[in-house]
Amino acid sequence: MIGLAPDIAVIGAGTMGAGIAQLALEHGHAVRLLDVDAAATQRASDAIRERLSRRLARQGLSGAQFEATLATMLGRLDLGSGPDDAAGADVVIEAIVEDLATKQTLFARLDDVCRADTILATNTSALSIGAIAAAARAHPERVVGLHFFNPAPVMRLVEVVAGAATALAVVEAAAGLVEGWKRSPIRCADRPGFVVNRVNRPFTIQALRAIEAGESTISAIDAAIRDLGFPLGPFELMDLAGIDVNLAAATGVWEGFDRAPRFRPSPIQAALVARGRLGRKSGEGFYRYAADGVRLGPGAEFDAPTTGPAATGTAAAAATAERIRLAIANEAFKALDERLVGDEATIDLALTLGASHPEGPFAWARGRSLPAVVAGLEALAPTEPDAFMPADGLRAAVAEASRAGNRPAIDLRSA
Ligand code: NAD
Repeated sequence: MIGLAPDIAVIGAGTMGAGIAQLALEHGHAVRLLDVDAAATQRASDAIRERLSRRLARQGLSGAQFEATLATMLGRLDLGSGPDDAAGADVVIEAIVEDLATKQTLFARLDDVCRADTILATNTSALSIGAIAAAARAHPERVVGLHFFNPAPVMRLVEVVAGAATALAVVEAAAGLVEGWKRSPIRCADRPGFVVNRVNRPFTIQALRAIEAGESTISAIDAAIRDLGFPLGPFELMDLAGIDVNLAAATGVWEGFDRAPRFRPSPIQAALVARGRLGRKSGEGFYRYAADGVRLGPGAEFDAPTTGPAATGTAAAAATAERIRLAIANEAFKALDERLVGDEATIDLALTLGASHPEGPFAWARGRSLPAVVAGLEALAPTEPDAFMPADGLRAAVAEASRAGNRPAIDLRSA
């Protein structure tokens, strides 16, 4: 369907579009970067030049070689404005604003102007691939989700999402394309949040629940999570990604799961966003930051209390960290029960590459022992049944292991 170095059109020249265009340029493609805002394409083009220059410098290229390689890569980049400029491309990757109606309008036009065998990919974080594909009326089978993570040139995980109408050949071609870009594609079904944004949801939600209940403090929870080998605690992560961005993802998954209680976003986040405390980018979120970005300490209302349960410090935070891991493991089993992906290893890979877990939730649960995980979940279930009632697949795995353990050993003498 697509040749060796297919022509790529990237629509939306913001954070993600610029990163995806850079990846494609680095891997030999001709790239058209299109945005309704000409200033955005210019900014993206400048950022790509800057980042490619730094990469080439790190590779130790000399003056003339450096200039020639940079010129070759940038020579394959064209800038444009709208979907009509994507006509003739082999693959279109959409990374515009996260709004279903806007994306549908775009895909309806792309379906008209692109060849029938052009792959139309969307980088949506949370919208339904099926709903976007429905707008490509003539050929919905060529619409696929290609969910890159930020920053796209660095993060290796790409979720390749098949909508109900997506052709298998399109899924495989899209996965093959990003594999050629040294990414690790995982194939998953069209369910809210796909794999990472759904299975890792408890990472921030359970941490926020602990703060809502006054059980612990943000610094103690962040430290307890880092002690487990995660690079950032949940509050540090939300401040880095943007509390507004995290809240939007949380709300999308909650709505997508018919407002299931375990995904209910925290009012703490909503209150911070309403006050413009978005995290590092606004100078204050859960923590306060100096003008040069150095972290100063927790925001006033998140300072450690001297009395009450939160004052117990590390023990309470360790209990929160345990709840987080149990809730994530349970969500992973639920996702597998729903056949979101084909196997445990795929979810483990997704969470290690896409969310920097030190090990995936299944590896963690099996290392802990599944009966111990069930016991831990059952102890917490009365507090939040939707999050902690053990998943059917988890119970089944424990029953299966116990049956296998009780099976009489085969008597080799009679063989
Ligand atoms: P962004 O706001 O940085 O950029 C979006 C760009 O799209 C803007 O430059 C805007 O001018 C342009 N645009 C809007 N409507 C357009 C249209 N009709 N045609 C052409 N251009 C249009 O957004 P972003 O963070 O790069 O996110 C883009 C997409 O990627 C969203 O769907 C988002 O959910 C998804 N995503 C974002 C991240 C992330 O961390 N930022 C990660 C994964 C996926």
